[in-house]
Amino acid sequence: MIMVDQCPFCGEEHILINEADVSGYAVYCSSCLAAGPVKDSIMESIGAWNKATRLELLNFEIPATT
Ligand SMILES: [Zn+2]
Repeated sequence: MIMVDQCPFCGEEHILINEADVSGYAVYCSSCLAAGPVKDSIMESIGAWNKATRLELLNFEIPATT
């Protein structure tokens, strides 16, 4: 079971993982669309999101959806 931190901006707990446009994965909030950094794997993207939310450093681009 992968635990993903809730959104640091709006408190949304429904966090999604999307395949980004450059062969990677990024976690993003389903409510305010705040997004984490693009990583090579889902696990890495979740780790990056969790780390970023704890540091409150989120100001990443929203991953492109196709
Ligand atoms: Zn949010």
